[in-house]
Amino acid sequence: MSQINRQLRLKTRPEGLVQRDNFDLIEQPVPELKDGEVLVKVLYLSMDPTQRVWMRDVPQYLPPVAIGEVMRALGLGRVVASRSSRYSEGDLVQGVTGWQDYLLLQEDAKGYARLPSDPGIPLPTLLGAAGMSGVTAYYGMTDITPAQPGETVVVSAAAGSVGSIAGQIAKIQGARVVGIAGGADKCRYLVDELGFDAAVDYKAADFKQQLKAATPDGVHVNFENVGGAVMRAVLSRMVIGGRVALCGLISGYNSDEKPSDDFGPFIMKRLSMRGFLVLDYTRTKEAVGAIAGWIRQGKLKAEETVAEGLENAPVVLNRLFDGSHRGKLVLRVGAQA
Ligand code: NDP
Repeated sequence: MSQINRQLRLKTRPEGLVQRDNFDLIEQPVPELKDGEVLVKVLYLSMDPTQRVWMRDVPQYLPPVAIGEVMRALGLGRVVASRSSRYSEGDLVQGVTGWQDYLLLQEDAKGYARLPSDPGIPLPTLLGAAGMSGVTAYYGMTDITPAQPGETVVVSAAAGSVGSIAGQIAKIQGARVVGIAGGADKCRYLVDELGFDAAVDYKAADFKQQLKAATPDGVHVNFENVGGAVMRAVLSRMVIGGRVALCGLISGYNSDEKPSDDFGPFIMKRLSMRGFLVLDYTRTKEAVGAIAGWIRQGKLKAEETVAEGLENAPVVLNRLFDGSHRGKLVLRVGAQA
């Protein structure tokens, strides 16, 4: 075959934000397929905060990406050649594709889903609301900290991929939902377009006062995506017996410093907190079905920000940390097959 596969391989571990030169861009011919192998053209890459953690050499839930390894990433691609009876040309495949143009897939590799060639949902949405982000939000808001009607739920990173869906699910559950986001535009978006009851700008000087005013009855449930000062402010508003779904701690992902512990509110307010990972969730089909149904019924809005170009992946990832996207951040890799 004459196609060229570009791959971004980790060269050095970033300090702070990711730089282009933390990666080598390697070009090599796509290999000939052997029996049982499938060639997948990568179409879209999911840009996820956890990738920044995978670049760090610290204990975590998966092995860190090794120096010299193709950067790990979830993605969506189309089968362009197959020597397997399990995959046909034209099939859509979802799973760990990595930062590359082509994935050479072994037919028995675990963790890959074959989707209908025309799934009836825009492809970027399959990585966002109807994909891993939506499933994370659903898992958190149904199994970890379901909300009762009338309770106040606070969601941080609320204009992002997981947070925007978690907040909308809490609204469907009948809760009063308050989103935390950076900047007035995102706060307006949460209230005017996603139907949140209130939104609070954590970058504003009067953030804590805004949060207090938005949560007059205290906070029953915190869907936590950020950690640090944002989380501490929410904990200070929690009611006795409040519940925290600990989904992510993005405020610390670019730093090797350990955040300081402050568990006082958990004792004083008898709070409970449960960390969770979407990897453990077994009812993905139910979650995607429910979310797709809510989208069709107009009860839930899915949004994606689509960036372009595999070669830009390292710097596009930083948009998760500077807040310059809304909804799910995905990267379109190249011409669509
Ligand atoms: P988002 O689309 O929400 O993007 C991240 C957002 O976080 C940014 O848009 C930014 O919004 C906000 N943010 C970034 N840095 C800070 C900071 N220092 N302080 C406050 N806000 C900040 O990403 P995802 O939806 O993919 O992920 C959200 C969280 O969910 C992450 O913590 C991630 O690790 C976690 N996650 C957990 C999973 C699990 O299984 N437990 C699975 C998937 C994600 P703004 O403009 O408002 O600052």
